[in-house]
Amino acid sequence: MEQMSVPLEVAARDTAQAAAGVLRETGRESNSPLVLAASPEAHALRAEIIQVGRKLWERQYVDGNGGNISVRLGSKYLLCTPTMMSKRDMEPADICLSDLDGTILAGQRMRTSELLLHLAIYTANPRAHAVVHCHPPYATAYAMTGSAPPSGLLSEVENSIGPVAVAPYETPGTKAFAETVLPFVADHNTILLANHGIVCWADTVTHAEWLVETFETYCKTYLIAQQIGKPLTFIPDSKIQEILALKRRLGLPDARMAGKPLGSD
Ligand SMILES: [Zn+2]
Repeated sequence: MEQMSVPLEVAARDTAQAAAGVLRETGRESNSPLVLAASPEAHALRAEIIQVGRKLWERQYVDGNGGNISVRLGSKYLLCTPTMMSKRDMEPADICLSDLDGTILAGQRMRTSELLLHLAIYTANPRAHAVVHCHPPYATAYAMTGSAPPSGLLSEVENSIGPVAVAPYETPGTKAFAETVLPFVADHNTILLANHGIVCWADTVTHAEWLVETFETYCKTYLIAQQIGKPLTFIPDSKIQEILALKRRLGLPDARMAGKPLGSD
């Protein structure tokens, strides 16, 4: 059932100044979700969600009302995409404000039904600040096989992603579906969802979408490379270790830094 819904533009008009003042004067987070939702930070995050949503649609990573995007707002709230909307057509008032239990506090529409997946990721991994879920064709084709292309072949992928996990299939929108990513979310920023699509987390919405782009292109390029008729050349293990050392310094996740031996993916 839809929870309390406050027209966001009204809330924004009434409280924007207060929000700016609270955040500027105290340097602390406001306790009021509506004040926080009307803050300049929230306006910028809504604009970023809308821009990334259009990008997903333009790149044909979503069809119909598919895909969803969310981002943390302060420590207790999220901004997320609504249900039943094309990611091409969103306006600021369409973006929902939710708490970490999935209760909608503001926004003119119902939240995405797949917010439980996002909440599971945020709850399990404090480093996840933004989540993008979509259905790009090459990555989703792999998800249909329950497998991911091997790691160790392309430096860009190694730098930003590393080995990709495949979460088992569950009915989308359910708690069981959300929990399928839990074994992987600490050490993988990119997870294939079997028979469904992909989900990525990062520090920003834009960066999470970059992970989707990088992996989608990798899936496509890997398939092309296999058609060339020559054996694939893997990056030497010593060079992978250099990349892992860099990722460790930057605080980027990689399953190979979690005690998992190289080559086991
Ligand atoms: Zn989906």
